[in-house]
Formats: sequence, structure tokens, C-alpha cells
Amino acid sequence: MTTENCIFCKIISGEIPATLVAESTHAIAFNDIAPKQPVHVLVVPREHHSNVAELAFENPEALIDLVQLGSRVASELSTGSFRFTFNTGEAAGQTVFHAHGHITSRTPKN
Ligand code: 5GP
Ligand code: ZN
Repeated sequence: MTTENCIFCKIISGEIPATLVAESTHAIAFNDIAPKQPVHVLVVPREHHSNVAELAFENPEALIDLVQLGSRVASELSTGSFRFTFNTGEAAGQTVFHAHGHITSRTPKN
């Protein structure tokens, strides 16, 4: 998939709206459109990479920044118990081929 028809690239450029939760130098965090847990935030690198493995090799600094952003969001929105999931590959459930981590938690802070 090219960056032109990538839904997360369009969210990053502002072409498609999303509920922004937090942002950092290399990543943004926004609410998942179809939340599966009381807390369900996507953490997405500003640069297009197909999945987290490619991001790790192509821009490790951006991956560290993304994990720090996700951890910050998780500690702000949850009691501190959360999952940080990167579905990688179609057979593993990846549907959007722009790297992203899911922050999910059953225990929101409030
Ligand atoms: P994946 O299945 O690739 O790991 O996760 C993709 C996630 O992106 C899904 O949880 C899906 O609900 C979410 N998603 C897909 N399209 C949009 C969108 O346009 N806006 C937002 N906020 N989330 C989206
Ligand atoms: Zn993209």
C-alpha cells in the first residue's frame, strides 16, 4: 500500500478526522474508531512503515518514541494495567498496513 491511499497517513495529514489523545515528535495517539475495550487508543508513527517490524529496522528512534508515547497515554488513561499490541501481518489480524500499536485496557482511570 502506498502512502497516498493509507488511512493513517490521511489521519496524520488531517485529511480524515480522528480524536487526538496525545502526540510526540515521531508519533500520534488517537482513539480507535471501533473500541474493543474501555480504553482503546492507537499509537501511530508519523512516517509510513508497513508494520512495527519494518519501523524497528528503518527508524528505531521513532519506535522508541512511539512506545514512550503509548506508555504515557496508558498511564494517563488506565490504572496502569494495559496491553500494547502490534498485529503484524494479515493472518495475525492486521488490517491497516501503516505500523500502529493498540493500547487497550479494561481498567480506565476514572
Ligand atoms: P489492526 O487490525 O490493523 O491491528 O488495527 C486497525 C485498527 O484501526 C482497528 O482497530 C480499527 O478499528 C481502526 N481503524 C480503522 N479505520 C480507522 C479510522 O478511520 N479511524 C480510527 N480512529 N480508527 C480506525
Ligand atoms: Zn501510512
